[in-house]
Amino acid sequence: MAESGTSSSPGQIGAARSVSVLLPLPLAGAYDYRVPPEIELEAGDFVIVPLGRRETVGVVWGAGSGEIDPKRLKDVAERLEAPRMPAAVRRFVDWVAGYSMAAPGAVLRMAMSVSAALEPPRVLTGYRFVSAVDLPARMTEARQRVVDVLKDGPPRLLSELAREAGCSTGVIKGLVDAGVVETVELPARMSPPVPDWQLPGPTLEPAQAQAVQTLRDSVTKGGFSTTLIDGVTGAGKTEVYFEAIAAALEAGHQVLVLLPEIALSAQWLGRFEQRFGAKPAQWHSDLGSAERRWTWRAVAEGEVRLVVGARSALFLPFSDLGLIVVDEEHESAFKQEDGVIYQARDMAVVRAHQGQFPVLLVSATPSLETVQNVATARYGAVHLPDRHGGASLPRISTIDLRRDPPARQSWISPPLRKALAETLAGGEQALLFLNRRGYAPLTLCRTCGHRLQCPHCTAWLVEHRFRARLQCHHCGYMAELPPACPACNAVDSFAACGPGVERLAEEVVALHPEARLAVMTSDTVFSVRAAEEMVRRIQAHEVDLLIGTQIVAKGHHFPMLTLVGVVDADLGLSGGDLRAAERTYQLLHQVAGRAGRAERPGQVLLQTFNPTDPVMQALVSDDRDNFLALEAKDRQRTGMPPFGRLAALILSGDSPEAVDRLAREVAVRAPHFEGVTVFGPVPAPLALLRGRHRRRFLMKCRRDLAPQPLIRDWLAPIKLTGSLRLQVDIDPYSFF
Ligand code: ADP
Ligand code: ZN
Repeated sequence: MAESGTSSSPGQIGAARSVSVLLPLPLAGAYDYRVPPEIELEAGDFVIVPLGRRETVGVVWGAGSGEIDPKRLKDVAERLEAPRMPAAVRRFVDWVAGYSMAAPGAVLRMAMSVSAALEPPRVLTGYRFVSAVDLPARMTEARQRVVDVLKDGPPRLLSELAREAGCSTGVIKGLVDAGVVETVELPARMSPPVPDWQLPGPTLEPAQAQAVQTLRDSVTKGGFSTTLIDGVTGAGKTEVYFEAIAAALEAGHQVLVLLPEIALSAQWLGRFEQRFGAKPAQWHSDLGSAERRWTWRAVAEGEVRLVVGARSALFLPFSDLGLIVVDEEHESAFKQEDGVIYQARDMAVVRAHQGQFPVLLVSATPSLETVQNVATARYGAVHLPDRHGGASLPRISTIDLRRDPPARQSWISPPLRKALAETLAGGEQALLFLNRRGYAPLTLCRTCGHRLQCPHCTAWLVEHRFRARLQCHHCGYMAELPPACPACNAVDSFAACGPGVERLAEEVVALHPEARLAVMTSDTVFSVRAAEEMVRRIQAHEVDLLIGTQIVAKGHHFPMLTLVGVVDADLGLSGGDLRAAERTYQLLHQVAGRAGRAERPGQVLLQTFNPTDPVMQALVSDDRDNFLALEAKDRQRTGMPPFGRLAALILSGDSPEAVDRLAREVAVRAPHFEGVTVFGPVPAPLALLRGRHRRRFLMKCRRDLAPQPLIRDWLAPIKLTGSLRLQVDIDPYSFF
């Protein structure tokens, strides 16, 4: 569990005149400091301490270790006037560090990401809309955006407002001069609105009522439990867990809801506000700095009662957390892949266990890990078998691309064309799903076959025609399409291979020039606001035809959408990912769930070259459980998760020779242990990423063995020099 030297037990400090202080830096452990007589400290206090020649903020982790001569210790400089980091949060930091094999300070950094919240409150200047005045005669588009941003929100800081409205600060100052916007002193903290759990929810259907009863009981009773809320899309799972939230709020606890992509959850926020009469506090990377500061502080002080956030919200300093909900628990977005590598769903269960409260995992397509935990009764489950209000599930069928191929250089097969035409003629909406951004995934020279590749990654450059750019989806490298082939100098010789959403859009416009088309990808929807606007337009039926990547798959409810065409259902099935089939099933099921959510029945067409693949069969026959059983059997046979454990080592560096040398050294020391197999080293599928050469090891363990101590012993003698790095990924979800 916890690394030695960082364990924190509250209250053990007493009269000790030295403390161990954990710093938010990737160091091996906590450091001892002397406590000067004028300062009183307790575990969890935020302090300023000297480190080398500078000062830094850290957290008192416990009494000093006593390993260093007290006379040689440096003094704690100051205790900050900030709420103490609760013992539960400190324990969690230690646990995550131990499990993920990260430096405790690196985990601590996630728990104190807003250092400004620790500073003494300062007075800030906010800008707000003066509602009583007429708008000036000269309303430019930029001015209008400022007004729109301010109209339905709190006062903003100048820089934030300029960013949100996408204008210069001059535009805002102009509006101040015109009397339309005024400045206010912002209190360092604003009291957040409190969700009202007494507002009535909807009348529940019997299956919902039964599920709610179970969940309410577990919340009121308290204590740790994990429950899966299992039900098809549209079954009313959200309504059900809203009742559990109401119970937790009523009991006086704080609540955390984790969503896989908070920036795309506009509808969820709206529903929450409708149900509880107040906007929830949000936590994600798109927040302005002032909002971050308030939220962090208000969570610590217990003023914020509910936070909806991305995985990083797990590390907020909740003073009395009483319930965590992990919505779409199967989503791989819960796995953080860089820095501290952790699986937020699993860590949410740990957090709940440590804090002795319930956690709810919600999904229509639960992960095999969770299903297995339900099967062995480690987790409980409630089931919502039917769609709310009798809406029927969409009819799913395959289109065999071998029999019904699309015309050359087009991607929509005749049967899908026909269905599309009928849907549009009937005044309904259609979605074409293709999980590929840009125009084409590959551009090559027709003369010599040269492929345009990223100079820094083992990856093709993807053409983005809307922006007239080539782009690497791994490192962000951008370039213009070269005037001639870099290999053979042929001019006008580039050919796009395969479709991306932009190319699909071209085909659709040619087929249905009259249809109002929208393309929804992370390139066109890059902020919460843009997502809200897109969803609003679709719901208001200002769009007839939607083309989208996986970001349309999640959670949205579009009543007029009756046709979903999956352009390439096989896309996720190849490659060496042990969860490829499971993920493809989840994603396509989720996309299919967008069709026919209201009274109108929906239809889903999957274009595939493998109509007999178990994934396609499971989707068509709506037999999730059988599919999962097959998948489970396969993984059990091969000892793969959840029946065994995996850990990956990723070695990287600037020079391929140095990385290979390191790989050989690591290979030589690999553990030989009953129940443990080490594969590798092999060049990673992305053998070059952001200019770094990469090699991988994969370690497979029996379930009853913990990989961490083995890896710790294995790597202890390894010294990293120069640019070499060695990353450990426990329970890996990506294998590139
Ligand atoms: P899920 O989360 O399972 O996809 P939702 O909770 O979003 O399902 O419910 C689907 C739709 O049905 C939503 O529009 C929701 O408001 C509505 N709904 C669910 N349960 C009820 C109920 N008991 N009464 C009225 N509307 C409901
Ligand atoms: Zn790249």
